[in-house]
Amino acid sequence: MFNDYRGVWVYIEQNDGVIEGVALELLGAGRKLADKLEVPLSGVLLGDNVKSLCSTVFEFGADKVYLIDNPVLKDYRTESYMTGVNMLCEKYKPEIFLYGATPNGKDLASAVATDLSTGLTADTTMLDVEVETRLLEASRPAFGGNIMATILCKKHRPQMATVRPKVMKALSPERGRIGTIIEETIGLREEDMRTKVLKIVKDVGKKVNLAEAHIIVAGGKGLGDEKGFQLIHELADVLGGTVGASRDVVEAGWISHDYQVGQTGETVTPKLYFAIGISGAIQHVVGMKNSEMIIAINKDENAPIFDVATYGIVGDAFDIVPKLIEQFRNSRK
Ligand code: FAD
Repeated sequence: MFNDYRGVWVYIEQNDGVIEGVALELLGAGRKLADKLEVPLSGVLLGDNVKSLCSTVFEFGADKVYLIDNPVLKDYRTESYMTGVNMLCEKYKPEIFLYGATPNGKDLASAVATDLSTGLTADTTMLDVEVETRLLEASRPAFGGNIMATILCKKHRPQMATVRPKVMKALSPERGRIGTIIEETIGLREEDMRTKVLKIVKDVGKKVNLAEAHIIVAGGKGLGDEKGFQLIHELADVLGGTVGASRDVVEAGWISHDYQVGQTGETVTPKLYFAIGISGAIQHVVGMKNSEMIIAINKDENAPIFDVATYGIVGDAFDIVPKLIEQFRNSRK
């Protein structure tokens, strides 16, 4: 029966006609899986007036796009999107289906998994396939992050996973690359919908954009207290970078959760990541290990953060960081 299920699918989340970056990243990851399994890679695109987005989906690696264009799909709603995606799954039977772990992606994936009675691995950090059995190997931290668990979905199809933004890498777009659009209609009418979107209120509060930052200066409990943590702000300021923090710092109330890096915070991939007074617990490391360059400062030479650091400085942050601030300040003059 599983032989009926073929192909790798990626949910192409779009909001206001703009494709979420994570969807393009998943096309990169999906391409590798599809090539290994020798099947097509497809994007699944739902929305109102979104056909023009198909070209981007092809340029980032898809061979096909399953498209449902309907005014009812203008704004995301669980009911309408799930109906569309489930119809496509039942008709075209993908063996693997990946979603971005955004608020809407997580909502949709869990609703689809429940309705199709299949499995879903949430917040996956690594994806692979075992070609012989065609099983998706979805790995994620488990048991408080102390181990990596590889989760298989042996008895149900499609095999589904959500992946957080910035964990996978998008392919470089191949301009002009084309593919096949499979357009489907669903008989959804606004009057049949149980939920209505009355108004979308955008959060206009001050947003920390850790995920897009090029330089992050992150501090941990090793800074001692909120006053000590000011050094992190100063270094970030002089480098034109963004402040980041470990969970213990957030829990101590030195800074808000918006700045937390790691499993239960943001996943980041800056060009330069300073980890100062951070021990390097796995839950922190999963959120920053893909940074291009990592500089760790820690007074314990055995701190696990040095295992992922490009450069490690063993010493007291209160000696080293003020010197760095001074040097960088002078070099800017
Ligand atoms: P510590 O582990 O206390 O480390 C402090 C470090 O500072 C030590 O290595 C010490 O040698 C060094 N130090 C001390 N004084 C100095 C000094 N003067 N100069 C230089 N170095 C010094 N953590 C996260 O960060 N992000 C997450 O998203 C996250 N999610 C979690 C989810 C779960 C389910 C669980 C169970 C835990 C999670 N954690 C997370 C917590 C994580 O396990 C660690 O407890 C946390 O990362 C430790 O923070 P820290 O490195 O700041 O503090």
